[in-house]
Amino acid sequence: MAEYLASIFGTEKDKVNCSFYFKIGACRHGDRCSRLHNKPTFSQTIALLNIYRNPQNSAQSVDGLTCTISDTEMQEHYDEFFEEVFTEMEEKYGEVEEMNVCDNLGDHLVGNVYVKFRKEEDAEKAVIDLNNRWFNGQPIHAELSPVTDFREACCRQYEIGECTRGGFCNFMHLKPISRELRRELYGRRRKSRIRSRSRSRDRDRGRGGGRDHERRRSRDRERSGRF
Ligand SMILES: [Zn+2]
Ligand SMILES: [Zn+2]
Repeated sequence: MAEYLASIFGTEKDKVNCSFYFKIGACRHGDRCSRLHNKPTFSQTIALLNIYRNPQNSAQSVDGLTCTISDTEMQEHYDEFFEEVFTEMEEKYGEVEEMNVCDNLGDHLVGNVYVKFRKEEDAEKAVIDLNNRWFNGQPIHAELSPVTDFREACCRQYEIGECTRGGFCNFMHLKPISRELRRELYGRRRKSRIRSRSRSRDRDRGRGGGRDHERRRSRDRERSGRF
């Protein structure tokens, strides 16, 4: 019996533990869920709830009809947001393994940012500190998250552009960052950890880029305001 219970833990067959909270770290029933949300006491991952605002969504809700923000502008805005948060996490709390942002629209997932640190103690430190901080004029709500494997939490249909549930899907719709930013944020650590020929190639490519400089400037400008 114990073995059976262990094998169904956190799955849909588990009548005690909520499979959504277990896999995704958020469930649409929130505190009223009839199944248990086992909040972790330690985890590498933290969730910053409802912190990313997609300007395309807010533009739509204001005038109801048209959206004046182009996809390019939206991507730039998103990349800046992503880089600002990612950099802040690494500088203040410790090395980040992976960061993901939900583009879902449901209240329990909209704008959630998941940051997976390399060390659990950095995640703990971050949660305590962030709950006393503000972002964009709003108090931050941070918590330890049970999510460690984002492949389990993601909507696979969304990744291939076929999710029929749209923004109200209950699996994570993770918003991709641009390839340049991905290279900039995740590439530099690969360079320092793995010594290979591609290492020097990446470094040469990244050097002297006017765009890097530009981005850093805009980041400094914004950082004084948003966090
Ligand atoms: Zn639940
Ligand atoms: Zn979906």
